[in-house]
Amino acid sequence: MKTNKNAGYFRNNIYIFKLLWKIKKGRVTGEFFYCVLRYMYWIFYDILFLRYLVESLEIGRSFEQIMTFILVTLLGFAIPNVIAAWYEHIFKPKTDADIFASVNTLLFEKATHVELECYENTEFYNRFTLAMKDCEQRFTRIMENQCVILTSVVASLFTLYYMFQIDHFVIVFIAGPLIGNFVFGKLINEIKFRMNKECVPYVRKMDYVNRLLYLADYAKEFRMTPVFLVLKKIYEEGFLGVMDKIKEYRTKKVPLVFLRNFFTFVVIFQGVIFYSLYRVMVTHSMTLSGFTVLFSAMNTVAWIVIQSSNSIIQSYEDSLYIANLREFLEYVPAIDEQQAGILPETCENTASDETILDFQNVSFTYRGQDKPVLQNIRMTVHKNEKIAIVGHNGAGKTTLTKLLMRLYDVSEGEILYYGQNIKGLDLPRYRSLYGAAFQDYQAFAMTVAENVLMRKPQSEEDYQKVRECLIRTGVYEKVCSLPHGMDTILTKEFAADGAALSGGELQKIAVARAFARDYQIAIFDEPSSALDPVAEYRLYENILEECRDKTVVFISHRLSTAVLADKIYLFENGRIAEWGSHENLMRQNGKYADMFRKQAQSYVGGMMYEQAK
Ligand code: ADP
Repeated sequence: MKTNKNAGYFRNNIYIFKLLWKIKKGRVTGEFFYCVLRYMYWIFYDILFLRYLVESLEIGRSFEQIMTFILVTLLGFAIPNVIAAWYEHIFKPKTDADIFASVNTLLFEKATHVELECYENTEFYNRFTLAMKDCEQRFTRIMENQCVILTSVVASLFTLYYMFQIDHFVIVFIAGPLIGNFVFGKLINEIKFRMNKECVPYVRKMDYVNRLLYLADYAKEFRMTPVFLVLKKIYEEGFLGVMDKIKEYRTKKVPLVFLRNFFTFVVIFQGVIFYSLYRVMVTHSMTLSGFTVLFSAMNTVAWIVIQSSNSIIQSYEDSLYIANLREFLEYVPAIDEQQAGILPETCENTASDETILDFQNVSFTYRGQDKPVLQNIRMTVHKNEKIAIVGHNGAGKTTLTKLLMRLYDVSEGEILYYGQNIKGLDLPRYRSLYGAAFQDYQAFAMTVAENVLMRKPQSEEDYQKVRECLIRTGVYEKVCSLPHGMDTILTKEFAADGAALSGGELQKIAVARAFARDYQIAIFDEPSSALDPVAEYRLYENILEECRDKTVVFISHRLSTAVLADKIYLFENGRIAEWGSHENLMRQNGKYADMFRKQAQSYVGGMMYEQAK
């Protein structure tokens, strides 16, 4: 177990060292020379310089000789000192900022490349949170500590050798800081890490409440309902959880801190003084100058040992965090977002009634659940077909679209695209076939045009494309009335004149986003829930007109829009209960017909129902 831990320690530290070397070689080399200079300076002044002065007084060197020596040493260190100051105050802050940026990019990229399922996995989230904790500082600190460890070992060996020459026995006292730091210091750090780890679930609860408090989306509920009391309870649970952990670990830490301080400071400082005074005053076996130099050397070596052991312990602690970070960075996603594979067929080159999508006995169970949410789904989608998926909440409709876009992989069965299992296709290319608008769409604090294109518009053509998409979803007029038209920022997060659009208007922008992609298959998962039935019907009419030569799969809980589809699938408890055209399903007079009639009755004067009947 111990060997594994130590092996992990070395592997984690070397991993970071290599990564930093790749990002900024200059910083690693600079730090190494900076450490060498620091220790040289320290040893020189505390030991060699002092020894020369004391010896000079003892053997009677002239004042001029001593002054010349002092001046030469001053000049000798002048240039390295200027370089060190430049390194410390100019080079290091600049390169560290670059390193932070690179590390953050690395983490952000990784976070966007792991599969969606990871975000629903508490264990993964906890590990991710721990990995992110101060991780940029940890990167540079690990490298700095490694440089300190390397150079301090050489420096302390030199000093110990020097002390050994004055007195063979005195170096025994060095065991004090070694035991203090390596035994007790290490135990303290392990406790600290365990405590932080056990605090993560509680800290996440507190973070969650903090986050909700400043998100505009939740502001209304906070004002109109007593939900804050529930959240306050969650916050308190988190806070008390953290407090309990602190209390639990505090009692374990106190005796260890005492022992660490005793061994690290008391044993060496008091020990060497007592021992040397004994030799000077009782046995008269040490001169006053020997005592002075020994005391100074002891001081130096003690601090070097304390510093290097602190660095080892610190990097040990960091390595525990780095283990999480490494695990996160080296995590091989179950669905590789960049997966290369067979290039998917493009619909343009194929016959008009060809089968595009084929669900072959597909079942799916979410991770950690024992009941499948989809069971034995068999359905085919032909080119340019308009498919409506209907059913009660929780029937599995959204899950089906997630499987289609490979946000999750099926648990059983296969989804074929032009006869190819979608798992074997080039994933970015496969996903690019889809234009999708979801029920839980997100509006970003960017301009309307950027929200539609999902990138910066580069030309007038881009604006033209945005304009057309907005016109098709019926929200262009509204956008024109905004202070900066298509360049108005959505939400007031960063701009006082940002647009606060209604839910329905935002949904239309989300649909425009789907249109703006160069898609072949459109997926609409109830992006119309905030619209009234008439507006929803009109939106779907527009959508289907826009997509007349595209394949469309849309989910709607209002059957008035389903009538617009060529084929309707009614889902019930994860299974297909009925399917067919609206006319056929009405003729069957089954569940669909029953639902349709019930919904029609609830809309007084529902003209679409009238039309459909
Ligand atoms: P629908 O779109 O028909 O309303 P969904 O496909 O969203 O239904 O959900 C089907 C079932 O799967 C529901 O019971 C829901 O609670 C469950 N479910 C949805 N997402 C997840 C998830 N990420 N993890 C576990 N269960 C989920």
